[in-house]
Amino acid sequence: MRDTTAPEVVVRRLALYLRVLNAASLDDQEYISSQELGERAGISAAQIRKDLAFFGEFGKQGVGYEVQFLQGEIARILNVDRPVHFAIIGAGELGIALARYTQRRRQLEHGYPFWLSGLFDVDLEKIGQLVDGATIEHVDALPERVKQKGIRMALITVPAAAAQNAANSAVSAGVRAILNFAPARVSLPANVRLHDADVTLDLHHLAYFL
Ligand code: NAD
Repeated sequence: MRDTTAPEVVVRRLALYLRVLNAASLDDQEYISSQELGERAGISAAQIRKDLAFFGEFGKQGVGYEVQFLQGEIARILNVDRPVHFAIIGAGELGIALARYTQRRRQLEHGYPFWLSGLFDVDLEKIGQLVDGATIEHVDALPERVKQKGIRMALITVPAAAAQNAANSAVSAGVRAILNFAPARVSLPANVRLHDADVTLDLHHLAYFL
């Protein structure tokens, strides 16, 4: 895993800048100023210049940033300039929705970096079923698939009680980053990156403002 010196918030904003640049590139826009990038990303121009300065000198005085160049540089910094092979562990309601979403994005969007390279479950009734071109396999096949496909990320979409086990299997198979959707605290070795995604927590947070 990369030892990054840039603050987390900056890395997160890079993904936002890349989204704006991807859209600008689709519109054949050649240059973008930090002002325009800022307006479209909802971040101040000064913040953008500061964020990008962590990684190098990308702009040209007076003309701003060359869209394709900056797009390529940010993609490279985020490791999404090449396919990122990932697995989904737990092919239930959420796992299947995420599988469909990512498979369709990849079909529709040239250069979409996240490639679903394994979809796993333990329910024997589900094994062998196809979800938008991905076959549900038994979780026992995970180590082999990780090696074969170069899977480096896993999304955990199993019930809370199974989350730690699923994460352990992923880590021992060689996965380096986990996005956990299960409402459970998962412990991982320090060299594996863990992010939690939780719509319900966000809903509670939002409900406070009603
Ligand atoms: P689900 O019951 O439809 O699916 C869970 C699947 O995991 C099932 O197919 C089950 O067979 C499989 N499974 C169980 N143990 C497993 C194991 N050890 N290895 C592999 N597969 C295993 O549930 P769901 O509605 O898809 O929700 C999945 C998880 O996501 C739950 O923990 C739920 O609380 C959580 N969730 C999170 C969010 C969020 O915003 N983070 C939103 C919805 C659901």
